[in-house]
Amino acid sequence: MQLSSLLQRFNEPETLKMAKLGRELRAQGIDVIDLSLGEPDFDTPAHIKEAAIKAINDNWSHYTPVAGFADLKEAVCAKLKRDNNLDYKPENIVASTGAKQSLANTILALVDDGDEVIIPTPYWVTYSELVKIARGKVVEIRSALESGFKITPAQLEAAITPKTKVFMFSSPCNPSGAVYSKEELAGLAEVFRKYPEIYIISDEIYEYINFVGTHESIAQFPDLKDRIILINGLSKGFAMTGWRLGYIAASPEVAKATEKLQGQFTSATCSITQKAAVAALTGNLKPSEEMTEEFTRRRAKVMEIVKDIPGIKCGEPEGAFYIFPDVSSYYGKSDGTTTIANAADFCMYLLNTAHVSSVMGDAFGEPKCVRFSFANSTANIEKGWARIKDALAKLK
Ligand code: PMP
Repeated sequence: MQLSSLLQRFNEPETLKMAKLGRELRAQGIDVIDLSLGEPDFDTPAHIKEAAIKAINDNWSHYTPVAGFADLKEAVCAKLKRDNNLDYKPENIVASTGAKQSLANTILALVDDGDEVIIPTPYWVTYSELVKIARGKVVEIRSALESGFKITPAQLEAAITPKTKVFMFSSPCNPSGAVYSKEELAGLAEVFRKYPEIYIISDEIYEYINFVGTHESIAQFPDLKDRIILINGLSKGFAMTGWRLGYIAASPEVAKATEKLQGQFTSATCSITQKAAVAALTGNLKPSEEMTEEFTRRRAKVMEIVKDIPGIKCGEPEGAFYIFPDVSSYYGKSDGTTTIANAADFCMYLLNTAHVSSVMGDAFGEPKCVRFSFANSTANIEKGWARIKDALAKLK
């Protein structure tokens, strides 16, 4: 018996692997503090839950159109107008089982064998693996902590070759927290104008978790809009990770292509979730704003703590709910038993010694760094970081 060669081409998500290791230790009775989490630690707002309960009682229990119910697609268009001043029609929208599936559909719809996909580092773990599944080639643009983990137009242009098919990024960025301003996006847009054959995937799932101002989408530049695939979803902004609702806004051609793939993969996302999503997208944003206010307080707390830990170099995230410090000054150090050679060792040392889970930067294309979430209670953040500080103090 032999499994497919496809399975050899890509890795399982490091984020999920760390969460699993943490759960295993917890099952042994160890008090593990999870700072590897990629999801809000809040409950879904009440009005959204009520819409789902109503949908169950109203018997929305059948298959839905592949791209989503008509009222859901209308709600997505209304949201994109309300929040982003973008004009889209239902024919531009495809709803999926999370933004992860939206991304997978899009990559499979665009990328052929050997096509190059430019991804600035650090990037969300899944991007590179989806490109590998599609037999594309990942072309990284290195960004540095010193430049806020953002790339310049010159860096973008230098990475483009005749084989470039797609440029793919997230703003706010998971894991770095970088948020591109309108001016910075305009700089990148200027480069894309010279290369009309390149598609741009803009992952905006952390849109609402922004600490520096209003969200700016690269889709706001009308001459580029046709080749932009805007990705968003409900997981982060509405605390709905388990509900599985993501969507794309794209040209009708790309939308149809992703719909065709989805028709064979999953048919559509859950009918109840779609009805709840209409309530989320058209409803009161106050609960989402309150979550972001809480993340703002926690960001301040974690920044205050890490600035006093020697050897950790950390920028202040502008969005999302992670810090992504450079911890490479610890590489080569030892507590007498364990030597830390890299980020993987660093994370395992923290898990085994401090009982805190984190995610190694290699998974995000940045081996000097480690990602720590602050989507956990302030009490857990304080307790977790106190333990990390003690564990790191033992490394000489
Ligand atoms: N994009 C980014 C940048 C993410 O961090 C995540 C979730 N961790 C997703 C997409 C996928 O979100 P979901 O599938 O839950 O909608």
